[in-house]
Amino acid sequence: MTINPKDIRSKYETLFIDGKFQVPSGGLEDVINPVTGRAFGHAPVGTLEDAEKALAAARRAFDEGPWPHLDRNERADKMQLFLDKMIERQDEIIGLQMLEMGFTRMQVDFLVEIALMQTRRTIELARQDSIEQLPMLITPQADGTNLLGGGIIARDPIGVVAAITPYNAGWLLSIVKAVPAMAAGCTVICKPSPYTPLQTMLLAEMVSELDLPPGVFNVVTGGIDVGQKLGSDPRIDMVTFTGSDRVGQDIMLQAAPTLKKVHLELGGKSPLIVRHDADMALAVGAAIFGFVHQAGQGCSLTTRLIVDNRVRADFVASLVEGLKSLKIGDPFEVDTFMGPLIRDVACQRTEAFVQRALDDGADLVYGGKRPDYLKQGFFFEPTLFDNVANKSDLGQNEVFGPIGAVIGFDSDEEAVRLANDSVFGLGGGIISRDLGTAMKMALKVRTGTIYVNGGAGAFHADAAFGGYGRSGLGRENGKWGFAEYSEIKTITYCAR
Ligand code: NAD
Repeated sequence: MTINPKDIRSKYETLFIDGKFQVPSGGLEDVINPVTGRAFGHAPVGTLEDAEKALAAARRAFDEGPWPHLDRNERADKMQLFLDKMIERQDEIIGLQMLEMGFTRMQVDFLVEIALMQTRRTIELARQDSIEQLPMLITPQADGTNLLGGGIIARDPIGVVAAITPYNAGWLLSIVKAVPAMAAGCTVICKPSPYTPLQTMLLAEMVSELDLPPGVFNVVTGGIDVGQKLGSDPRIDMVTFTGSDRVGQDIMLQAAPTLKKVHLELGGKSPLIVRHDADMALAVGAAIFGFVHQAGQGCSLTTRLIVDNRVRADFVASLVEGLKSLKIGDPFEVDTFMGPLIRDVACQRTEAFVQRALDDGADLVYGGKRPDYLKQGFFFEPTLFDNVANKSDLGQNEVFGPIGAVIGFDSDEEAVRLANDSVFGLGGGIISRDLGTAMKMALKVRTGTIYVNGGAGAFHADAAFGGYGRSGLGRENGKWGFAEYSEIKTITYCAR
């Protein structure tokens, strides 16, 4: 169905704390549409005062409220109600994200589909018995008798969870954190990015209709100060953070004095290995997805294109032809492939990457600047560099803008070595007609996710998502993500 941006609610005035909509102490702030660079709505601004209220409410709801002790099916029933609402209000959810992030319909549909799939799977997991029996043991005693014993492994909700999310997937990430956390019996405070607060306010509106006990789910918008408060406050038992590696590092430091659990989903510089025997059309399609999708604003996009030197020239030429055919512009126009970056500062950062790549001697083969024909908004041309040194700034650092870096290789061993020569380890891909060799290589690449010949074949709810190295700690999605929100308790007993 066509979505009309005019039909979408884009003005929210209250935060959601302790089961009530509350006036924020920071007033209201315009929310900018990155396509026009102008305000399209406004959102409440949370401050430390609001964070304090949310912390007190979430702690109280966990320590004194019924939620952690409810029958697991009762919590799952509430999540089912939420799933039904998501399905009902899908168009609104999609439209608001398109406006806030400047992503195309196809890109947002994908994010919403994952949110639905993950919520469905979490509900199934939440209904399963959380108690595991340990085998019975008979232990000989000094007096000649035998002691009969057994045990169980039980799961306890971890406690009060702070969910801090980035601008490029606030809806999805709030859901893949808050839904398993709540289903496990935790209470939650969500803090979205100040660039994209509205989608999390819409989430609050929908959760408010579930009639949860007060304090189980809270949303406090705001900036770094609110994030730091949640990261460091002793009333928080776990911080689940998605964002840049630099802020992830800060979160660890904030959490260290109280030794709270930290779950980090961070950035990447993921490799796409194109072998000499690759289907070239498939390789070019994967490469375009790898750095143009969401205007390069995706954590696990494969922005390092590691290409066999025997086919590199052909690959680059075909890729340039592919880039020429892409329409850049308003994501609400159906033939648009790529929208804008989130803010002007992101364009400036991308420009600085272009300049440094040129200074480092890489060859600019396509793009490299803001498009002259788009006079407003924060657009940047899809940009391709060839002859990039893997050790260079562009070879190592996350741009979060639409720049692809082509790096040549001469053997499979070298391709794997280059892929692994990164502080990150989030995503990756290999394109080859020799599936056995590609699989052997995939096993050696040190990233949390890697696909062979395209990722869509195994789009599974239990496909764990997370990274090695500076890409993070812990895993999200399915049974792996659900397990993050529980403490494991062993209870042993003797039959005396
Ligand atoms: P960011 O790290 O700048 O901000 C993320 C969140 O942290 C925001 O809510 C922000 O307000 C808050 N924050 C900022 N400084 C803070 C501090 N010192 N203490 C506590 N909170 C603080 O990230 P961004 O620019 O919004 O998003 C882009 C980044 O997110 C990229 O690096 C991208 O790779 C990463 N990301 C990772 C995943 C993943 O699943 N691994 C998914 C999406 C995005």
